[in-house]
Amino acid sequence: MAVEMQAGLASDGGSKLKMLLTFVDSLPDGQEMGIYYSLDLGATNFRVLQLELGGRNSMILRHKVESHPIPRYLMTGKIEDLFDFIAMTLQSIIDKNGVAEHNPDLRRELGFTFSFPVRQTSASSGILIRWTKGISIENAIGKDVTQCLEEAMSRRGLNMRVAVLVNDTVGSLALGHYHDEDTVAAVVIGTGTNACYVELREAIIKSRGLLTNSGGMVVNMEWGSFLSSHLPRTSYDIALDDESPNRNEQGFEKMISGMYLGEIVRRVLYRMARESDIFGDAAHFMSAPFSLRTPLMAAMHEDDSPDLKEVAKILRENLGMQDVPLRARRMVVRVCDIVARRAARLVAAGIVGILKKIGRDGSDGVATGRTKGEFRRSVIAVEGGLYASYELFREYLKEAVAEILGEEVARNVVLRTFEDGSGIGAALLAASHSSNR
Ligand code: ADP
Repeated sequence: MAVEMQAGLASDGGSKLKMLLTFVDSLPDGQEMGIYYSLDLGATNFRVLQLELGGRNSMILRHKVESHPIPRYLMTGKIEDLFDFIAMTLQSIIDKNGVAEHNPDLRRELGFTFSFPVRQTSASSGILIRWTKGISIENAIGKDVTQCLEEAMSRRGLNMRVAVLVNDTVGSLALGHYHDEDTVAAVVIGTGTNACYVELREAIIKSRGLLTNSGGMVVNMEWGSFLSSHLPRTSYDIALDDESPNRNEQGFEKMISGMYLGEIVRRVLYRMARESDIFGDAAHFMSAPFSLRTPLMAAMHEDDSPDLKEVAKILRENLGMQDVPLRARRMVVRVCDIVARRAARLVAAGIVGILKKIGRDGSDGVATGRTKGEFRRSVIAVEGGLYASYELFREYLKEAVAEILGEEVARNVVLRTFEDGSGIGAALLAASHSSNR
């Protein structure tokens, strides 16, 4: 991972890891003050968040969130129509909340979380490369999405500026850093997976002469697409990839994230069912791709009843498999355990790769003969539905980090869970990048 990171920083296309520059060179530190907004545009809805910051010791005085579905007809129309709709909603939220802003002429500041592929041109602007996840608004491709949104806001008479344009991982990092200044990286493990971290300017070889205020910059790794000859894949991984709509892409993600873990388990079980009589004649119930969702896999894995009642119930109610014998249910739990453990260990390896890349894995400490207790504390902000809801996954991850780094170094590596980096984190970045500061 560390070697691939270096290759991705040396040249565009130098690695499966894109290592995208975000131009974010400073992170919130807890001193931010005032009212800020964020807009998180997802595939099916958008969320608007209003955040009031107290200005001392990471004080969030108030935060309000509203989520709105995106009407279907706007997902395939013109960008002006979608953004006019969003600007109108933003305006009405601001009016409704009637915030006592001291100076109504002051331009409001927005953090825009835009989870689609963008070529960033500054911390607050970027060109849309393509849509994913079901949206296809042709006339937006190749355009600066910030400019499009700001034009829509000004058409609506909304005095608001996009202070930052980020992806959700960067929001997580900002949220982590706001609460704990030792936060150096963020990892999201939900439906998909990604990570970002703070890199030294000199290490970003592909952008020589890059100016930053702090000497560092947040790099969005897009680690879901990581693959390497050092990463062993099984026949199940290869078959899953071959049959996926994005073949040869997102290789790491396909071994780790919530979208795929249940499906890997299903593939293993289905083969066991076909090649043995362990599931009796119920094998065909497992033939449908993606019929075993990851939350159900986790529930079976975490079934601690002696006769595995929950496993029996899930197999019966969700896959239609009646009377699966206890021996087979035990096997199901074992397969879930192997698949979850592998995923957690891969994430751990990825995290250690980041720490190694930024010299925080303890190896320089050993080389320079540093004595006990002198390793710097490093916090990794982690968020996402899979990580948050899957306790055994979290345990395996922590265990593997300690195993790779050794207990002594691992004591200074803190995995801290956060919630809503894409909302709160983006608003915090709007604050730290505010032109009103
Ligand atoms: P996003 O879709 O934006 O990644 P989340 O971070 O909330 O949203 O992650 C949702 C994903 O988390 C789901 O797709 C699912 O795979 C996974 N997930 C949700 N609940 C559980 C659970 N109880 N156990 C394991 N995985 C879960």
